[in-house]
Amino acid sequence: MRKICLIYTGGTIGMKQNPNGKLAPVDFDQLRASIPSLDLLPIQLEVNTVAHPVDSSEMQPEGWIDLVERIEANYDAFDGFVILHGTDTMAYTASALSFMIQGLKKPIIITGSQLPVGVLRTDATENLLSALEFAAMERNGVPLIQEVCIYFEYKLYRGNRAYKRSSNEFNAFSSPNYPALGESGVRMTVNEELLWKTPTHAATFQKSIDAAVGVVTLYPGLQFDQLPVLQDWKVLLLRTFGAGNAPNSPAFIEFLSRCEKSGVQIINTSQCVSGRIVPGLYDSSSAIERFNVLSASDMTFESALVKSMVLLGQGLSQNEFAVKFSASIAGECA
Ligand code: ASP
Repeated sequence: MRKICLIYTGGTIGMKQNPNGKLAPVDFDQLRASIPSLDLLPIQLEVNTVAHPVDSSEMQPEGWIDLVERIEANYDAFDGFVILHGTDTMAYTASALSFMIQGLKKPIIITGSQLPVGVLRTDATENLLSALEFAAMERNGVPLIQEVCIYFEYKLYRGNRAYKRSSNEFNAFSSPNYPALGESGVRMTVNEELLWKTPTHAATFQKSIDAAVGVVTLYPGLQFDQLPVLQDWKVLLLRTFGAGNAPNSPAFIEFLSRCEKSGVQIINTSQCVSGRIVPGLYDSSSAIERFNVLSASDMTFESALVKSMVLLGQGLSQNEFAVKFSASIAGECA
């Protein structure tokens, strides 16, 4: 029987109304009692609950480190991991784990739900049971999936390629630049050609994050001359238009040069969720081209942001950062 470690971090899946009428996380035993079919799965399940289950909008880099430590401590003893997590920041956590754990040879499948587990029409039961089944898949005793995934509403996605697209549909996640890895229908199917296989031999677990990353979203009317370059920024994600376009205005160029003088590494990431950055396609990207700006290519915003924090946490030189950021670490870009 496959052994799966189920890590409970909170999220709507395990919430109930508190005395103020607001949804707040409860402990895992209450959640488990609402899904009796869990005991029917041919899987040996062990539950590992974080000290304080939270709404995932409370999730911080320390929470990612805590998850990495829990997975490292249980890595040899289990065939795979399923993490119950709120949907709001699920894509950030999935990206973080995919970058912080290198050489992963076991599945880490993150799931949650849009409706709490006790509610009649809840999506929690299907999401949890299918996530567990995907995590238990094997061939000759070797886990089929060896990467960090998000499972939601019948689809298995690469975690660092997915983002939350809807707050009110069961189909809450989307992976616009990479196809779904698997699907749960009458049969559970996995498209093996799409799976990530790590080139690294032994698993390594990074436990440092540097969150000195700023984000500026461009919009018509943004006054660049009034935009400060914050002292603690080491990286700035510029959310540009379309294929990576920005104005050519003197104020924008002056802003970029203030960043450069402060030693801030700028990364060009688009506000479009689908497609990629194409440097030099339009004349409107020529201001950016005059500076040392890295391209987030076809990464999700979540992935580009978290990858920056994880790489900064490795204390790399600016050159090493640029090389690692531009390469695919865990299948996050092409
Ligand atoms: N606010 C909740 C959370 O992210 C939403 C959810 O789980 O769907 O924890």
